Amino acid sequence: MKLLDGKNVIITGASRGIGRGIAQVFGQHGANVAFTYSSSEAPALELEKELSNMGVKAKAFKSNAASFSESEELVKQVLEIFDSIDVLINNAGITKDNLLMRMGEEDFDKVIEINLKSVFNMTKAVQRTMLKQRKGSIINMSSVVGVKGNAGQTNYAASKAGMIGFTKSVALELGSRNIRCNAIAPGFIETEMTDKLDEKTVQGWRDAIPLKRGGSPEDVANACIFLASDLSGYVTGQVLNVDGGMLT
Ligand code: NAP
Repeated sequence: MKLLDGKNVIITGASRGIGRGIAQVFGQHGANVAFTYSSSEAPALELEKELSNMGVKAKAFKSNAASFSESEELVKQVLEIFDSIDVLINNAGITKDNLLMRMGEEDFDKVIEINLKSVFNMTKAVQRTMLKQRKGSIINMSSVVGVKGNAGQTNYAASKAGMIGFTKSVALELGSRNIRCNAIAPGFIETEMTDKLDEKTVQGWRDAIPLKRGGSPEDVANACIFLASDLSGYVTGQVLNVDGGMLT
């Protein structure tokens, strides 16, 4: 059964990792996918082709999610190929880890801009269209770290916790117009972002997971299908943990 047949979706940061996994699973479920990348042009164009071969509309855009004007321009361009925007997935994100004592202002600001300000930029940019449609689902990719904190990630944890506050506020503001906004809090998902971690840290994460394995991008994508589809029509303002039980 194709759960997203004909839905038009924007995903930020889908050239790699979780975003790419979401795009692939959404394409398999019949969604048309416009997605962004920051610098990985070749993998982005490869994904565009892969999705088109599934028989859905697909388009890759180079667009910096931290830029307000680029986000507005992106949505304008997407509306030239899609006649609606049913789902926005704010997924683009980075880490710049360090203990607070060693963290520079630049690394704090950069993580907040790319992870959190981007969510404001893109949500503002799609808001008018979703209001006109009186329908929409916005999904923000937070993290377990935004819920529980993590030593060495004050910038990242603050950005991800901020996304949760933003999510709940948007759910309250736009609920009466049938626009839903939820967050996903993935735990340890094996992507290039986690490849940067040393083996001891990775083992520590795995030991703390009741299901005793790291998650895959598809694990997160499956949760996104629920939140993007009409199956979750009465769900808004929630944080769905996709973490193998880590926060239990
Ligand atoms: P990833 O493999 O590092 O991929 C990050 C994606 O974001 C890439 O497509 C990258 O594009 C894009 N991106 C980075 N900066 C951008 C910008 N300024 N504008 C537009 N796109 C940008 O990361 P991931 O592990 O898939 O993580 C995806 C999301 O899930 C992030 O928000 C992350 O915080 C969250 N998350 C991940 C985990 C985990 O364990 N992996 C856990 C919890 C939450 P380029 O390829 O062009 O650089």
